Amino acid sequence: VDGASRADAPGRPRRRHVLCLFTERTQDLRLERMRTDFIANASHELRTPLASIRGFIETLQGPARDDPEAQERFLGIMQAQAGRMQRLVDDLLSLNRIELNEHVAPTERQDLGEIAHETAEALAPVAAERGVEIRLLAPAHGPMVRGDRDQLIQAIGNLMENAMKYGEGPVEILPAPASPSHPGMIGLTVRDHGEGIPREHLPRLTERFYRVSVRRSRNQGGTGLGLAIVKHIMSRHRGELSVESAPGEGAAFTLWLPAEPGAASEPGREPASG
Ligand code: ADP
Repeated sequence: VDGASRADAPGRPRRRHVLCLFTERTQDLRLERMRTDFIANASHELRTPLASIRGFIETLQGPARDDPEAQERFLGIMQAQAGRMQRLVDDLLSLNRIELNEHVAPTERQDLGEIAHETAEALAPVAAERGVEIRLLAPAHGPMVRGDRDQLIQAIGNLMENAMKYGEGPVEILPAPASPSHPGMIGLTVRDHGEGIPREHLPRLTERFYRVSVRRSRNQGGTGLGLAIVKHIMSRHRGELSVESAPGEGAAFTLWLPAEPGAASEPGREPASG
């Protein structure tokens, strides 16, 4: 920086370009490192269930050949492992698709309340199966936002699924009060009443494959990509994802989206223009 600010002084060498090149090279290396880490992590995540399936195939071909009870049990495990691989591949493809058009902000007007209700309805059977109550405190209509309907459903759905997997009921979906840290933005919060997340983990939650407890995530069928997907969806919407949590007090994740003109004053109603 020092070199750059003095670069134009007479008689001084212009060092600005040297500094820029160095910075870009550092950035390149960092991106390359992230890419290779990602591939290594994804491969590892796929290799574990794959190795388990191969192991069980060998057992079925050998020692368990004449044991129908063991065959039944091992086939069940293999199916669960294949399911895990399927979820991982689905999430990887999802992340890839979102990243591909992340630079193109969605332009369609969407009714956020309607989307929240549709998502909650879609997840009602999962909640019932887990015995978790969902409390929908967002209005049925409004506010209006610009967005990609499927991606907003996916973002809210991922947060609700996490609240059901790691938290405790009731899971609440509610409008977030206007916040000075998110001026001009509309917030929708998904809150649970579980054990919460220790503070030191909060900044890393949206990293790919980052989990507070790997074992717990795996047991719950997690891929470690859910919040990374939400973060990229928000980034495409020029929005943000925030989280508040303290141990023992549950977790509250909020999706922040840029407000449409007139959105706050007339929830659910289309303004005459635009
Ligand atoms: P996963 O597939 O493991 O659920 P996510 O990216 O969705 O991956 O979440 C990352 C980690 O964040 C989870 O493994 C879990 O440790 C933690 N987490 C997410 N949501 C909650 C929540 N509502 N309560 C407690 N921990 C959570």
